[in-house]
Amino acid sequence: MARTLKQSRSAEARVEDLTKVRLTVEQILADIEARGDGAVRELSKKFDGWDREDYRLTEDEIKACVSQLSKTNLDDIRFAQEQVRNFAKLQRDSMKDIEVETLPGIVLGHKNIPINSVGCYVPGGKYPLLASAHMSVITAKVAGVSRIVTCAPPYKGKPAPAIVAAQHLAGADEIYCLGGIQAVGAMALGTKSILPVDMLVGPGNAFVAEAKRQLFGRVGIDLFAGPTETLVIADESVDGEICATDLLGQAEHGPNSPAILLTNSEKLARDTLAEIERLLGILPTAAVARQAWEDYGEVIVCDTLEEMVSEADRIASEHVQVMTSDPDYFLKHMTNYGALFLGPRTNVAYGDKVIGTNHTLPTLKSARYTGGLWVGKFLKTCTYQRVLTDEASSMIGEYCSRLCMLEGFVGHAEQANVRIRRYGGKNVAY
Ligand code: NAD
Repeated sequence: MARTLKQSRSAEARVEDLTKVRLTVEQILADIEARGDGAVRELSKKFDGWDREDYRLTEDEIKACVSQLSKTNLDDIRFAQEQVRNFAKLQRDSMKDIEVETLPGIVLGHKNIPINSVGCYVPGGKYPLLASAHMSVITAKVAGVSRIVTCAPPYKGKPAPAIVAAQHLAGADEIYCLGGIQAVGAMALGTKSILPVDMLVGPGNAFVAEAKRQLFGRVGIDLFAGPTETLVIADESVDGEICATDLLGQAEHGPNSPAILLTNSEKLARDTLAEIERLLGILPTAAVARQAWEDYGEVIVCDTLEEMVSEADRIASEHVQVMTSDPDYFLKHMTNYGALFLGPRTNVAYGDKVIGTNHTLPTLKSARYTGGLWVGKFLKTCTYQRVLTDEASSMIGEYCSRLCMLEGFVGHAEQANVRIRRYGGKNVAY
C-alpha cells in the first residue's frame, strides 16, 4: 500500500486559491472586453508598472534587445531553437493528409490546415522564460501559421532582452511587451492596437492559465499549461542528492509548483528529505523553492512497480523524471503524463530549455486527456468526401434514408431520397 511520508497542502486550500484566481480573471476579462486598450493599459500599469501608448515593440527596439546579448547567448538560443524546429518538422512530416476509396465509388479524406493566426504567450513575471518563445513561435511556424503574435511581460520594468531576441529569432510577426491576463485577453478579444487571434498558446502562471481557460470558445487554446509540476520516480539505483536536485530544480518555478517523489525505497525517501534541507540552505532561489516544497511537496513510498505506475497515473504530473533500474517499464505502462524523462542522464531542465521536445505541457491533471503543445495543435484536421458514381450514391443513399427515418429526420431522409431517385432510378417508400 502506498504511504505518504510528506504531505502537501490540503485539497481544500488549493481549491480556494483557484476560486480566487477564477474571480479575478472573470472581472479583468470583462473589463478588457468593455474598455479595450484603456483597460489593458491600466492593468499593465497596475500589475507590471509598465505604461505606454503602444505595446508593440518597434524594429529598432527589437534590434536593441538582440544587441544586448553576447554571441554565446545568441548561439545558445539558436542551438535550442534548431533542436525544437528539427523535432517539430519530424512531427509535422508524420501528419499526412489522406484520401482513400473506402467503398467502391466513395472517397473520404482529410487535410491538415494550419490555423491562420495565433497568440503565443511567453511567461516572464519571475524569470524571463525565453525558452517558451522557441516552444510556441517555432512550432507554429513549422505548422505553417501565417500570423504569429507574441506577448511577454516586462521583466524588471522593461522588455526582457533575452525573451525579445528569442521571439524575434523564432520568427514572430508581432512582438508586444504585455503580460498576464491583459496580454491573453487583448490577443483573444482584440483591441484597437492588437487584432484578435484565432488561438492562444503557451504556458503561464495560474492567472494566465485560467484566462486561457475562460477564453476557450471565443478562441482555441492549446491546453491548460499552468504552474509547473514535477514527479520524480526513483529507486535505489540513484541517490538522494540527484532526487532532491530534480525536485527543487522545478519547485523554484513558483510557490505553487508541486514537486513529488515516488519511490519504492524508504531509505531513498529519507535521504532525499535530508538532501532537500541541505540544498535549501544553499540554493539562491530557496525562498520560492522552500515555499513550494513546504506547501506542495510530497513523498510517497510504494511496495511494487505496479503500485508506482498506478500512483503516477493518478497524479498525472506535467513532468515525470524516471530514475529506476528499468525506466522503460514506466514508458510501457504509464498513461497519464505531460512528458517523460527516462533515466538519470536526462532531466526536466534539458527538456525545458534545449533538447527539442516541447516544454509547454499539461498541468492540474489535464495530462489525463491531452499531451503537450506540438505542431499538431496548430493544425486543424478537416475532412471531406466525394461520391464518384451514380451506383455509389444510390447505394449509400438507401442506408442513409433508412437511418434518418429511424431518428425521425424526414428532411434529412429526403436529401438521400432525391439522390436515390435521380442516380438509382428507384422510388423510396417510407
Ligand atoms: P507570467 O508571465 O505567467 O505571469 C506574470 C503576469 O501575471 C504579470 O505580468 C501580471 O500581469 C500577472 N499577475 C501577477 N499577479 C497578479 C494578480 N494578483 N492579479 C492579476 N494578475 C497578476 O510569469 P510568472 O508569474 O513568472 O509565471 C510563469 C509560470 O509559468 C510559472 O508558474 C511556471 O511554472 C509556469 N510554466 C508552465 C509551463 C507549462 O508548460 N505548464 C512551462 C513553463 C512555465
